[in-house]
Amino acid sequence: MGQNEILFERAQKTIPGGVNSPVRAFRQVGGTPRFVTRAQGPYFWDAEDKRYIDLIMSWGPMIAGHAHPEIVEAVKKAAETSFSYGAPTEGEIELAERICQIMPSVEQVRMVSSGTEATMSALRLARGYTGRDLIIKFEGCYHGHADSLLVKAGSGLLTFADSTQNAPSSGGVPHDLVKHTLVLPYNDVAALEEVFAKQGNQVAAVILEPIAGNMNLIKPSQAFLAAMRSLTSQYGSVLIYDEVMTGFRVALGGAQSLQGIAPDLTCLGKVMGGGMPMAAFGGKKEIMSKLAPLGNVYQAGTLSGNPVAVAAGLKTLEIISRAGFYESLTRQTEKLMAGLKQAADEAGIPFAVDSVGGMLGFYFADQVPTSFEAVTKTNIEAFKKFFHLMLDQGVYLAPSAYEAGFTSIAHDDAVVGEIIAAAKNAFKKL
Ligand code: PMP
Repeated sequence: MGQNEILFERAQKTIPGGVNSPVRAFRQVGGTPRFVTRAQGPYFWDAEDKRYIDLIMSWGPMIAGHAHPEIVEAVKKAAETSFSYGAPTEGEIELAERICQIMPSVEQVRMVSSGTEATMSALRLARGYTGRDLIIKFEGCYHGHADSLLVKAGSGLLTFADSTQNAPSSGGVPHDLVKHTLVLPYNDVAALEEVFAKQGNQVAAVILEPIAGNMNLIKPSQAFLAAMRSLTSQYGSVLIYDEVMTGFRVALGGAQSLQGIAPDLTCLGKVMGGGMPMAAFGGKKEIMSKLAPLGNVYQAGTLSGNPVAVAAGLKTLEIISRAGFYESLTRQTEKLMAGLKQAADEAGIPFAVDSVGGMLGFYFADQVPTSFEAVTKTNIEAFKKFFHLMLDQGVYLAPSAYEAGFTSIAHDDAVVGEIIAAAKNAFKKL
């Protein structure tokens, strides 16, 4: 038995399923999860000292590459003066100021420790601000695991649960609560218009992944975004952009900077903490001022704005703000996707690719899907085989066909070339 298997068996005795977040368990693709011992740049090594090219980068955060020396240094320096104070620091102000500069729709921002906390708090705030209960989300979008949002949710829930319309995607979520969540198909303008015409004045918030990454990578149409912005404004509902994944990843200013949309609230996470537990929600001052201690919407956190996480976040934002960062990230990602597509074409395998900045999607299908339903119709069996053929050759893809992939600035030509060469072999064997 290999060391990964030994560790997985041991882990399952004291940790449910052997993992601390479900999708890590390889349940969709089968096989043994790799236990990581160390990482550097675009690579990590497992418990058997096998090297992998990483194409999930901790599910998004590690955009500067693993163990970036400047970020490591910033974290060490912060750690030497204690890990947490539970009192405010100047670093938090700097981070807040930088976020507000980068994203002009964010006038004020509150820091939390996970994306789940960010979306959960943004929803409460939207409900408190509007005095309404109803929220609208879209099929296949995942916004963390707060109760109201676990309806037709993407990511691990697609892999593990039976998502039936009007039912929670998870056990333990009261039906009484999810009755306040309306789920509409992504990219369906008519459905959105119909719901607003009937119930618009009851809608507290519309929450969406402005480029979806939890049902593979799915882009919104401009018409869909425009309808959402104008309907929410017209009916006084709060438009929440969940940019936990896309923020600082598809572009410095997130999806909203590419789409020319100013949401009312934005949720951030992943890249903004450079791999430390750090997330945030922010937006219009008028809405944010309803939060405690100014307003009556309660939200708090012992470790919120943690100084070590703030140091990692500030240094990460500095690195990604440097000239040419996103041009290079985008170019390398596009090169990778074009190479994969060409390799699949040469092997006569139906395959489509897409990417935005350092976020990527590939689909065993003739065309890039535009809805959750279309993603479920791609060839998942081919994906599973491809996943393992790549893993054997030392390329670590997301272990589910319902997840986007991620590159970093460390994915240079040599790394991209190695992935494409592995894919050529894999396609031949499919
Ligand atoms: N929103 C989106 C769009 C996400 O992709 C995720 C996590 N993948 C979350 C929220 C939840 O973030 P976290 O896992 O940090 O709670």
